[in-house]
Amino acid sequence: MEHKNRIGKQQTGFRKGAGFFALAAALFTVFCPLPVQAAERLQDVGEKLVVVIDPGHGGENEGTKEGSCLEKEMDYITAMAMCRELMQYDGVEVYLTRTEDQDMSLAERAAFAASVEADFLFSIHYNASENHELFGSEVWVSGFAPFNGYGYQYGQALLPMLRQEGLFIRGIKTRFLDNGDNYYGIIRESEAVGVPAVIIEHCHVDEARDQGYCDTREKLEAFGRMDAEAAAQYFGLTSSALGVDYSGYSLAQARADIPQPLTVRDETPPEICELSFLEADYGAGSLSFLVSGADYDTPLLYYSYSLDGGQTYSSREPWPGSDALTGSYTDTFPLQLEIPSGATPQVILRAYNLYDLYTESAPYISPQAFETPGPEAVETAGEAQNPAPEGTNSLEPVGEGEAGPAREAAPAGEEAPEEVSVGTFLKLCLAAAAVLLSVILFSQLIAAHGRRKRRQRRKDSGTSRNQRK
Ligand SMILES: [Zn+2]
Repeated sequence: MEHKNRIGKQQTGFRKGAGFFALAAALFTVFCPLPVQAAERLQDVGEKLVVVIDPGHGGENEGTKEGSCLEKEMDYITAMAMCRELMQYDGVEVYLTRTEDQDMSLAERAAFAASVEADFLFSIHYNASENHELFGSEVWVSGFAPFNGYGYQYGQALLPMLRQEGLFIRGIKTRFLDNGDNYYGIIRESEAVGVPAVIIEHCHVDEARDQGYCDTREKLEAFGRMDAEAAAQYFGLTSSALGVDYSGYSLAQARADIPQPLTVRDETPPEICELSFLEADYGAGSLSFLVSGADYDTPLLYYSYSLDGGQTYSSREPWPGSDALTGSYTDTFPLQLEIPSGATPQVILRAYNLYDLYTESAPYISPQAFETPGPEAVETAGEAQNPAPEGTNSLEPVGEGEAGPAREAAPAGEEAPEEVSVGTFLKLCLAAAAVLLSVILFSQLIAAHGRRKRRQRRKDSGTSRNQRK
């Protein structure tokens, strides 16, 4: 209810005649995310190019362990493949920090990179999350210019390739210690000796959607070849052996003086997460909502939902339109939930941002229970009643084109559509118009807020950067 009031207030404050502008702006926001502009490489490398590849972990430090997955071994396979591939390019010297299963501190790895006068260090990893709920690929970079920009340009070359493979993209990110320095040791230690470094987290070994990307040696090696190809693009390399030429390759635009806005760490959860009730079908077992979400700092990445008032949550789903590489996402989308028969759902939605901070919607409490199909209903409707099995409540975004499987249509000849009275028809039209208007107004408002907030943040990050060094 609250959310409806909120939108209502916005409507009253809105001038008539602004409708066309609002519609255009809403369509632009939803369908035209800002393209990443092409630019030259920020980093200036000398005559000789030296790349260090760092297979994560090693020895006693095994990294992520999940089933038969042992991260230190996976990292090594991928790093070796990256090394072999990169050596096929002209004019590049490639080193590995470790060539066997050995313990090696992060400072030692950085010192090695410095000793060979490395231009870049790529640290190779696979990920897992505490609750086994995360999926997707990410690149961690320095929080400080200009190394931030170097890592960003590399990440913008690599991550679209991983997305092409079907992986979800979690972004190019930064993290800090309490003292303000880079959190990740390999990035911090490398930067201390003047070597730019990134951590590549290829995917999550403990989530079903990612497991199929890293379960054979061939797949781990394929990741290494993509890491190398992105490095070749980043450095503008050519390879007569491979017959490719990346000289003059355009990278994502980046700034040398401040951290890239898309990498600035977000310490606050999403500002908006609202569920607007649209419709309930107590017989068929479905609830429809309009979901509205916004984060003024980083894009929304996932959502999950609860049907039991927050006791349990579904697995995470990609937030519609989420693009961590441009910072865009769809701020309003319709959502249909299947409700198991006999349930009186209390629905809560969670919106997660780029740094996995989430905001919960106010609960929607169903005013009545969903029907338990009785023997009579089964007789008259044949097999038409097809309640979802217990505990497998599926959630599908609707109106998302290819995003979700279409709901099964009722078998032909059964359940002839009820006659619709003129009154009902008019009500439906009004409801549809109201929903459309809400979407437009909401998008417009979010876009305006977002712009204001981003402007402010740009100012802030400029200031804090100047204070630091
Ligand atoms: Zn690792």
